[in-house]
Amino acid sequence: MNVRGFLDEAKSGKVSIEESTYRILEEAEKINKEYNYFNVISKDYALKSAKELDKKLKKGFKGRLAGLPISVKDSICVRGVESSAGSKILKGYVPLFNATAVQKAIDEGAIVIGKTSQDEFGFGGFSTNAGIGFKIPKNPFDKERATGGSSGGCAGFSSITKFPHVSLGESTGGSIVNPAAFCGVSGLSPTYGSVSRYGIIDYGNSLDKIGPIAKTVEDCELMFDVISGYDSKDSTSSKEGLHKDDKIKRVGIIKESLNVDPEVKEVIEKTINNLGFDYEYVSLPVSMNYGIQTYYIIAPSEASTNLAKYCGMRYGAEEELEGNFNEYFTKVRTNNFGKEVKRRILIGTFARMAGFRDAYYLKALKVRTLIIEEYKKAFKKFDVLVSPTVPILPPKFSEINKLSIMQNYMIDVLTVSPNLAGLPHLSINAGFSKKLPVGIMFTANHFEEKKLFTAGKKAESVR
Ligand code: GLN
Repeated sequence: MNVRGFLDEAKSGKVSIEESTYRILEEAEKINKEYNYFNVISKDYALKSAKELDKKLKKGFKGRLAGLPISVKDSICVRGVESSAGSKILKGYVPLFNATAVQKAIDEGAIVIGKTSQDEFGFGGFSTNAGIGFKIPKNPFDKERATGGSSGGCAGFSSITKFPHVSLGESTGGSIVNPAAFCGVSGLSPTYGSVSRYGIIDYGNSLDKIGPIAKTVEDCELMFDVISGYDSKDSTSSKEGLHKDDKIKRVGIIKESLNVDPEVKEVIEKTINNLGFDYEYVSLPVSMNYGIQTYYIIAPSEASTNLAKYCGMRYGAEEELEGNFNEYFTKVRTNNFGKEVKRRILIGTFARMAGFRDAYYLKALKVRTLIIEEYKKAFKKFDVLVSPTVPILPPKFSEINKLSIMQNYMIDVLTVSPNLAGLPHLSINAGFSKKLPVGIMFTANHFEEKKLFTAGKKAESVR
């Protein structure tokens, strides 16, 4: 049954939400043994919420997500459920509050069934950088391959589950659309500031956003509708509402983005032809050639600042108190952070350091402005831009192990720039090559999510 059908039935009061929740929890537990999509399955919490909801429904509650099971990326806080962002340093942390997006979904009757697996703090594009003691999710189409990342658990479970379900993912530089593409589902990374960041375990504050991952564009749209809107708890939350225009007159194909693996290119070009929109090629040289360099200075700079609070005293894991502060701090971080986290701290601290700041961090901020200007110019002419989501098919774990750090970061080549510019982008499945999913990505101007939904639904219809 699809989400819409389920919600209609739930509202009629004919189904027991407790029973349907129980069934998806059973399925999640079974799938998790094989695929590692959850860091935590919140069974008791979900069943308790379901029981309460059944009572509310009997009294006439009409929430827009009544009874809908949702999973939430581990880096988004859920009150009463362990939320560790996939890091050993936060193991055992149980938030006393809900992220605003989670609260909004719960207020409409959604049931949180668990916290999904991810790269530690979101640092990765394959979900293989899981923290110490955490498991790596496997691709639903081939267990030898990666789900993409960093919201790998969200996308993997959305793809494989037989039950109606939507996931809340988080993107800093591509973490929603990348795993959506690799797992053959839809994912929306919304306009920066359109969904509150309150309750995210921060990666990079000027980049982070929460967005839905689900089987269909319609499901993503429904969840986005619920979670978006101004929030006084987030100083970067925007009061500008969504633009109403959903019509697409002209589409720009990002020229540089077709320089990808031939299998990916073939599926994307076929979809573009079938879509029947009025097309033109557009070149985005700054965004496509300098996005990675810019992102991998700004994102780690912000991350290294955010991670400073995990020092063994203020937040997170503690160790036996001994030595001076530096020794103690070093011991806690050495034992509880994974390798990629340490690398990001080194890169970010270096880029922000007195003496290097002008050459790296401030320079990157300037290039970021050029990227924003480049997109803004393109949107004077085009309603949406189109590109592949990721340049390759989902790789095998054995192949990822052989990648250099730079090659690892290059997976984000098509997704970092819309993120740097705070632009909404939607990935949907465009088809398959060698039985593996290929994602097509639409990018729109700020607050023009409606155009993305139009493009995405059209692409679903010609698949
Ligand atoms: N792969 C990118 C990174 O490692 C993006 C991850 C994200 O969006 N959280 O930073």
